[in-house]
Amino acid sequence: MIFKYKLLSEQLAVLEKTKRQYFEIYQNCDCPLCVEEKETFTHIWVCPYQTEAYNQLYNNFKNTLIFGILDSTTDIFAQQLSDQFDLLLFTKSFHVSNITFIDIIKGFVPITLVEWLQKYTTATRHCNLLIKAFDKLYEDSLEL
Ligand SMILES: [Zn+2]
Repeated sequence: MIFKYKLLSEQLAVLEKTKRQYFEIYQNCDCPLCVEEKETFTHIWVCPYQTEAYNQLYNNFKNTLIFGILDSTTDIFAQQLSDQFDLLLFTKSFHVSNITFIDIIKGFVPITLVEWLQKYTTATRHCNLLIKAFDKLYEDSLEL
């Protein structure tokens, strides 16, 4: 629970924050995985050494929603829903002005995502689906 809160509020003790407190010790340290970038909240998710884990989080979140939709309708195929979901976020990676999956990790629910769910589910159903997808996302995040 504490991890979830810290994740949502970007309070994880990433190296760049630790440097503020212990500058003398960490002043020359970068991301311990790639050793090329500063370890910020965003970099944790876009570090090239985390690509597989990030993609797994993304796909698990997407698939939870897709399978939830498919439980209540047979009018669309999983691949079509997958393509639509990918288009909603424009990019899986960090982008300064677009909503991305990193924003979802932080806990934001883009209106485009809600509108997409509303095409296929009732209000109660899409709220429950989002709760289920976020629970799975945070559960999976703990395994990183
Ligand atoms: Zn890195």
